[in-house]
Amino acid sequence: MMKNGVVVITGASSGIGKSTAEYLSKKGFTVYALARRMDKLEDLIPLGIKPLFLDVTNETSIKVAIEEIYEAEGRIDVLFNNAGYGLYGPIEDVDLKDARDQFEVNLFGLANMIKHVLPIMRKQGSGKIINTSSIGGKVASLLGGWYHASKFALEGFSDSLRIELKQFGIQVVLIQPGLIKTEFMQRTYDYASKIDTTSPYQNTIAHVMKSAERDYLTGKVGSNPLVVAKVVYKAIRAKRPKT
Ligand code: NDP
Repeated sequence: MMKNGVVVITGASSGIGKSTAEYLSKKGFTVYALARRMDKLEDLIPLGIKPLFLDVTNETSIKVAIEEIYEAEGRIDVLFNNAGYGLYGPIEDVDLKDARDQFEVNLFGLANMIKHVLPIMRKQGSGKIINTSSIGGKVASLLGGWYHASKFALEGFSDSLRIELKQFGIQVVLIQPGLIKTEFMQRTYDYASKIDTTSPYQNTIAHVMKSAERDYLTGKVGSNPLVVAKVVYKAIRAKRPKT
């Protein structure tokens, strides 16, 4: 792909998305950073990154953002679908509304971004879609039922999409980060920590919270998001496999 290609990043207001926006911009790409918290996106303007409002659960918001980018650039080379969050809690206790909301962002929001970008990429006859799954899209952990369900679903979705889009010259890449130091952990365990104290799973919650507080919430365990930014860069630069 061209060195200064147009890259669209969702969830670019913090963590992996923000770090990737900065890294790709320094590498010469034209970067659009999308998220809901515009104040956070504004930090990226001095780097030449273009901030745009996006709520992936809102159809109009997706449409407006993609149209604005296409009007300005006339192409979209890479869609880095990174917006997402974790929600940990016992399956018996997690409200189905909250579980569905998580799917709306982690799976359906991502799918809707793809639906809006595909007509542009098909017209170009090229494009790369990079979806952020997780190690949690391969391996399940205690209290992570709904998060894992959303990422396992994303894995199957992406593998199928890859075969579907081959005929149009569009590539689909899945990345599966391990623990990364971002705002993600706080939000993930916030839900578990607020579960009713009468829950029959209180011992399990206490056990999980104890290790979360010791390792993840203190930032003791986890890698710098720049590690993922570099993986995304490599995925963008990688040539199409021969098979
Ligand atoms: P952060 O919480 O730092 O970033 C999440 C991003 O998602 C934010 O920029 C947030 O922006 C955005 N987002 C959330 N909801 C919406 C929405 N409705 N519309 C648009 N944007 C939204 O976490 P990470 O950087 O860690 O997470 C990025 C991705 O990496 C996620 O998909 C996560 O599942 C995955 N991941 C993270 C790991 C980790 O250990 N941190 C490990 C493996 C995978 P805003 O709120 O401003 O809209």
